[in-house]
Formats: sequence, C-alpha cells, structure tokens
Amino acid sequence: MKKVESDLFLLEKIKHLRQRALNKRSNLRPQALEQPISFWLKKDRLLNEIGQEFTIILRTKGCSWSLGESGGCTMCGYIQDANIENVNSGNIIKQFDYAFNSKIKEINSDEDNFSLKVFNSGSFFDENEISDEARLHIYEKIEELDKIKEVVIESRIEYITSDRLTELKDNLKNKHIEIAIGVETVNDYIRNHYINKGMLFNDFKTVLNICKENNIGVKTYLLLKPPFLNEQGAIDDCISSINNLIDLGVNTISINPVNIQKGTLVESLYMQNRYRPPWYYSLFKVLKKSLDKDKLKHTRILSDPSGASTKRGIHNCLKRECEKSSLNKLREFVLSQDLNVLDEPEYECGCKRQYQFEKLFH
Ligand code: SF4
Ligand SMILES: [Zn+2]
Repeated sequence: MKKVESDLFLLEKIKHLRQRALNKRSNLRPQALEQPISFWLKKDRLLNEIGQEFTIILRTKGCSWSLGESGGCTMCGYIQDANIENVNSGNIIKQFDYAFNSKIKEINSDEDNFSLKVFNSGSFFDENEISDEARLHIYEKIEELDKIKEVVIESRIEYITSDRLTELKDNLKNKHIEIAIGVETVNDYIRNHYINKGMLFNDFKTVLNICKENNIGVKTYLLLKPPFLNEQGAIDDCISSINNLIDLGVNTISINPVNIQKGTLVESLYMQNRYRPPWYYSLFKVLKKSLDKDKLKHTRILSDPSGASTKRGIHNCLKRECEKSSLNKLREFVLSQDLNVLDEPEYECGCKRQYQFEKLFH
C-alpha cells in the first residue's frame, strides 16, 4: 500500500504514542500472571434466546500488530494491559482455570445457557500469545461444560488458517463457534488510513470463506466513528458496512462505538478537542436505517459499548435521564433483537437539536 507524506506523519505519531505507552508498562509480579485481566458473567443475546455470557480476558504478551512496526490501531490501548515479557503456557492455563473454576458452580446451577468468550486483546490463534498447549487445554475444558452452547474467540485474519479451524472444530464438536474479527469498516481507505488496521477487505472475505468451508461462524466488529470522520460520515460508513457484511452472510455484527483509550492516537485527538465519541442518536440511526426483520433473522446484531454514557464513551449530553434511557434502549434492542424497541418514543432531551447541528461538523 502506497503511503503519502501525511500518512507517514500519522504513522510516526501513532508509533510515538505507542512507544510512550509501552515504556510505561512494567513487568507484573509472577502471581499476577496466574490470574486473567478480568472475567464476568452477564446477560447476553445468544443465537436464538436470551442467555448469559461468560467472558474471560486473558493476559498475554500483547497483540503482534500493536507490538510490531505498525504501532497498532489508532483507537486501541489494550497493549497497556499486556505483560512486557512472554506469558508462558503454564500462566495462560492457570489464568483460564482460575476464571473457569471460579464460575463453574454458578454456571451449572443457572437455568440459562451460556456463551463463552475467551478474549486476549490480540489473536487467540497467534502462538506467541496462546501456545498450542494452552489452546488445547482451553478446548478440553470448554468441551466438558454442557451449559456452554456458544464459544467466541478473537483473532487477526493472518492467524486464521484451515489447520487452526479444523483443530477447533475437532475439539469443540457440540458448540456453535464464532471467530471474532475486527473488520471495523468495509472501507479499505478508512480502515487502513484512519484506523491503521493493516487489513484489506478482500483478505477478510477470503478468511470468511475458509471459516464457512469449515462450518465455523464469523462475528465481525465494526467501529462506530473512527477518527477523522464526522458524525454523519460515521453513520454513513457504518450503515454501508452493516449492509455489506449482512450480504456476505456473517453470523454476528458487533458495533463498537469508539471509546477513548489511554495512549492512543484517538486519545491525543480527544485531548486537543479534535475528536468526540459518537452520540447514541447516531447509533440508533445506524440500526434503524440498516436493519429490517428479515436481516435480523440471519444476522445477530450486538453492541456492548465500553465506557457507555461517560465522557470517554458513547454519550449524548451526559444528563442522567438522557443517558439512562439511551443505554436501556440499546440493551433492550440487543437482547430482544426486536426493531420495535428502536421505534419506541425516546426521552425528549434538548440535546437532540444540538446533535443535529453538530453532526455535520464534528
Ligand atoms: S484493535 Fe486488535 S488488532 Fe488492533 S491493535 Fe488492538 S488488539 Fe491489535
Ligand atoms: Zn440529552
């Protein structure tokens, strides 16, 4: 991909900020490497029902894209949670077991079915993050637990190969599996120039087909309001991305409104008042304009925004009632997958007029 001068300037800036974030990291105490970054149970939309998610965030050495020459994606600050040195197989296994054993009783005694999400803020299939041994151990444990009906792992597309998928399928015979991929947008220019993702849409399509051949589902993340787009541009980009991905037959689309993470280019723009996270109004507009009943029969639409209703996450005017009603509406839609929820009259707040004016400029 040819880089022009402004791109090179941006790349230098991204790398500089990333380096500063990396310098601030310190090696964690050995015991800290035996527990995951975080894990929780929460209500969630399963394929055909409302159930619960069991999410485990493993701590690894970090995402290869972020650690490499590229400097990583412009909105992603996950590298701050990673450990400087390699986290070995034994540590990863202990982390997983710690979370698993802490929740197994609760899961078994719950009436709901579960979707297990094993995330590592990088690529599950990158053996520098999760070794073969750790991967196989995780599969073995998951297969034991009947209440887990769905399994989601994340990976950059360069690590998704037929071999990895066959191994996954062979080990998790009775689960619905989805590989989550950060596509962010179907627009190559926005993805690679504004988000610095280093991925072409055509390459994603190739991987999607490999997943389909292996009978494995694909979940895609879309970024709502990448840097350098105004609110209206972000709405248009997200609508066209949803339509395109539904046409391609992905199983799930999860919309991630940008939240301001530490040590990122997006944070630096935010500090200079050159970036504002998206409004809820925009997200609802995207959902209403891009979806219908028929599309929702084949594709699950999720959105569980980090930092929702705070200054650094998706928000309207930050007035309590306004934020609460918007967040409730979003949650209700995600759980029910019912478009009627979006048509219900919203809390009438004066900020809508301000939004309509601002969306063309910011
Ligand atoms: S968004 Fe994903 S690919 Fe990009 S730097 Fe973060 S973890 Fe890596
Ligand atoms: Zn408001």
